[in-house]
Amino acid sequence: MIEKADIQKISDLPIEQVADALGLRVKRHWSLCPFHNDSNPSLHYIVAKNKYRCFVCEHYGGTIDLTMHMMHLNFHDAVCWLAQAFGISIQEEHVRKFNVKPREVKPVKKFNCELTLGTEQLAQMIANPVLTEEARHFLFDERKIDSRVVRWCGLSSTHTHLLIPYFNIDGSLQSVQWRYLGNDPKEPRFRFPKGSHCGIYNLPVLKLLKPGEPLYIAEGCSDCWALLSSGRKAIAIPSATLLKAEEIKLLKGILQADSSPFPTGEGRGEAVTFHMYPDQDEPGERLYLELKELLGNVEHHSLPSAHKDFGSWWASMQGNLTTLTPYHLTH
Ligand SMILES: [Zn+2]
Repeated sequence: MIEKADIQKISDLPIEQVADALGLRVKRHWSLCPFHNDSNPSLHYIVAKNKYRCFVCEHYGGTIDLTMHMMHLNFHDAVCWLAQAFGISIQEEHVRKFNVKPREVKPVKKFNCELTLGTEQLAQMIANPVLTEEARHFLFDERKIDSRVVRWCGLSSTHTHLLIPYFNIDGSLQSVQWRYLGNDPKEPRFRFPKGSHCGIYNLPVLKLLKPGEPLYIAEGCSDCWALLSSGRKAIAIPSATLLKAEEIKLLKGILQADSSPFPTGEGRGEAVTFHMYPDQDEPGERLYLELKELLGNVEHHSLPSAHKDFGSWWASMQGNLTTLTPYHLTH
């Protein structure tokens, strides 16, 4: 029997150094995954948690798991292998001997690895969305967002950030916004990649709009998810003044009957109407006035006075606003 304290010592070996000892090539916290046919590095090392996770085949674990699976060893033998590979003495009578030269454990540099993802890895994470425990807690427990909405929006995550893809109306990826999920007040809550345009969020929903149907405009993504979860079709526009001319044209276009993106046929001739639950603060009311000016007609809906925005109202109602019939978002 290997002692608990010894197992802990082995578990605490730095995950990336263990991967290296096992023959994996670690580059900026990523490796090719040895557990599926991988051509783009999908195995990520979560240094802060000393774990690894493959974003494609979802293989997950710590130093001992990685060794067990890579070397085809049982738990006991994997612990022995790691002890010998890193020159750690353990209290155990039945040590299995391996032909491995011990290496030294190097100190681990601490830095925020999550934001060093390249664009290729980002695109991959959006194509194969992952919801970490932290993201699930935020979306489902705190915000009461419907899982269909999360799927529709293609949300993905790391342990520290939610990855929010911005798609064009045709579904092509335009940009990815990061939302911090932790409690460190020094971390910015939102990040956009440098040079990216912060345009209209959830444009693909316009294709689902039927003539005459209301379209809700939220200030931010999380209110947009809450509106979607409540059965309302919604987009988010963080700032009317930052909209590009083509985005304004698109919005004005859907106000007019008989224009794209609507198909011809039944209901044609009825325009979409814009609606808003402005945040109960000065920027919220200002955005409402700006959009009203821009679009001509935006119907103002008031939130119950205790709630600052639609999202907090929705969460406080446990996602249960009874007056609406939820619809299904389909790809
Ligand atoms: Zn894999």
